[in-house]
Amino acid sequence: MANKVTDEQARVTFDCSKCPAFCCAVYERVAVTKRDVNRLARYFDVSVETATRRYTKKFEGERVLRRTEDHLFGEACMFLNRETRGCTIYHGRPNVCREYPDRTRCAYYDLYRFEQRQQGNKDVLPLVQITFHEVKKAEVVGPDRREKIWEWEPES
Ligand code: SF4
Ligand code: SF4
Repeated sequence: MANKVTDEQARVTFDCSKCPAFCCAVYERVAVTKRDVNRLARYFDVSVETATRRYTKKFEGERVLRRTEDHLFGEACMFLNRETRGCTIYHGRPNVCREYPDRTRCAYYDLYRFEQRQQGNKDVLPLVQITFHEVKKAEVVGPDRREKIWEWEPES
């Protein structure tokens, strides 16, 4: 029987370097704030306007990172290295990528390892499809500015 898993665990139980980067592929939107776009502009040494146009797009009223074709998942973030499955802009990546998965376990990694073990095959790749609920915009106050974010209804 598995040990009880809680978010209070000190140890992180996933290893992004051994994962094909579900999180960079299965979400059709990776939201970017103005601060993220500014960081991208600095990272690539281009103007904010160029960074906005080149690396982001509007998706359902939200600014998100652009995506391109991916041989594993169909599409993935344009900044994902398709061979190493690592982020090519690690120090310039948006805040949501820095925080993800925001807990000590990653459900995608667990699923991936589980299927590999079950089937005794390291090439197994579970394909994940997510449906999204409606979300509403909320205003949060950060250390130096107000920011609009998408907010889920509280879990019941
Ligand atoms: S899906 Fe989870 S384990 Fe894989 S790269 Fe993303 S955060 Fe890391
Ligand atoms: S910016 Fe990097 S970490 Fe974020 S979704 Fe794209 S490849 Fe993944």
